[in-house]
Amino acid sequence: MVRQSPFQLRLVDTPQGPLTYTLTRKRVKNINLRIGSGGEIKVSLPIRCPIQQGDDFIREKSGWIVDALRRREERQMEPLPPVSREECARLLAGALGRVYPLVEPLGVAFPALKLRKLKSQWGNCHWTQGYITLNTALARCPAELRDYVALHELVHFLHHDHGPGFYTRMDALMPDWRQRRKALKSYGGALEREQTGKV
Ligand SMILES: [Zn+2]
Repeated sequence: MVRQSPFQLRLVDTPQGPLTYTLTRKRVKNINLRIGSGGEIKVSLPIRCPIQQGDDFIREKSGWIVDALRRREERQMEPLPPVSREECARLLAGALGRVYPLVEPLGVAFPALKLRKLKSQWGNCHWTQGYITLNTALARCPAELRDYVALHELVHFLHHDHGPGFYTRMDALMPDWRQRRKALKSYGGALEREQTGKV
């Protein structure tokens, strides 16, 4: 009698696209699913269950799996290395300079730029005083995210709150701003973890 290997790599077509997973037969009562530290999908199947049930389980849970893999990827976005004050000023002024031409034709005056270590905001617009504040932590995020925040604050000179007018304007000036905002959120988590020493 040939003993069947307890591990098997399987490829399943799911509503989310093809997924590869490792199937292990174990003395367990129920089917277990987990995502390994390297992002591998692992299923343990009770010894008596047909293999097909492992595949069905993956198909059924594919939405959850794909979400979990995506969240994992986002958590792994690491900030760029720390930069000097001068470099930080150069990078953030660069962002403002790149996006200002988008709002210049709309009558926005070139604002003064202040840099601050902000705790809970990436930026601020002081439209009555004609300046914007950018979080120095932005210097450690990719350029397209710095540009997004700089533009967001510039648009506040036109629309002071986050009403529909604000978003319509953002859509028109930077159609992919939502993706950038999403990416920025993951950097926020990484920077915060770093400050508090939690990994
Ligand atoms: Zn805002």
